[in-house]
Amino acid sequence: MDIKAIYMHAHALLEGHFKLSSGNHSQYYLQSAKVLEDPKTAKLLADALAKVIQESALEIDTICAPALGGMIAGFALATAMDKRSIFAERVDGAMTIRRGFAIRPNERVLICEDIITTGGSALEAAAAVEAMGGTVVGFAALANRGFCARQNSTLARKESCKLPNDLPLFALEDFTFEIYAPEACPLCAQGKGEAIKPGSRGN
Ligand code: ZN
Repeated sequence: MDIKAIYMHAHALLEGHFKLSSGNHSQYYLQSAKVLEDPKTAKLLADALAKVIQESALEIDTICAPALGGMIAGFALATAMDKRSIFAERVDGAMTIRRGFAIRPNERVLICEDIITTGGSALEAAAAVEAMGGTVVGFAALANRGFCARQNSTLARKESCKLPNDLPLFALEDFTFEIYAPEACPLCAQGKGEAIKPGSRGN
C-alpha cells in the first residue's frame, strides 16, 4: 500500500512552499485530519495499522487516543482490532482521562495518535493511563513524522523523540521532510513565492 499516495490523494500531504507554526519553511505540509475525512480511507489505514500490530503479537486490551488529534485514528484502530476505545483530553493544560472511562489495574493500553511528531501528547496520555493503574504497552500512529523510530523501519530515532525507548511504536509510514529557517530556505531562494500557512500545526 502506498501510504504517501493515499495522503497526497486526500490532500493530507501537500506539496508547495509552506510556513510551519515554528516559523520555518518546508516544501511539504501534513494536514493529518484530511486523510481521515473519508471513512473508507480511515478504515483502510486503520486495518493496515491493525495488521502491523497484530503481526507483532503484542497483547492489548484497550486503545487510548489523545484528543483531539488522535481520536478518529484511535477509534478506527480500535474498531479494526475489536478493542475498547477511550481518549484522554486536556483539562487546564493537563492530559486527563475523564467522562467515566475506567481502567482496571494492569489493563494493557496502546496509545494511538494520527501522527507522531516528537510524541509529546502521546506521552502525556500514557502518563494519564498509568496514573489510573493501566500499563502502557506501546504507541501507534498512522504516520510517523520521522523523529521517533517505528517498528519495521530503519529510520533512526532523533534526540527530540519523547517516547520511551523500551516500548514499540507502530506506524504505517515515515514522513520525513526538510524544514528550513526562512533565511536559508531554498524555495525562497528559488523565488517560489511567499511561504503560506495552510492550517494549524503542520509540524
Ligand atoms: Zn521559504
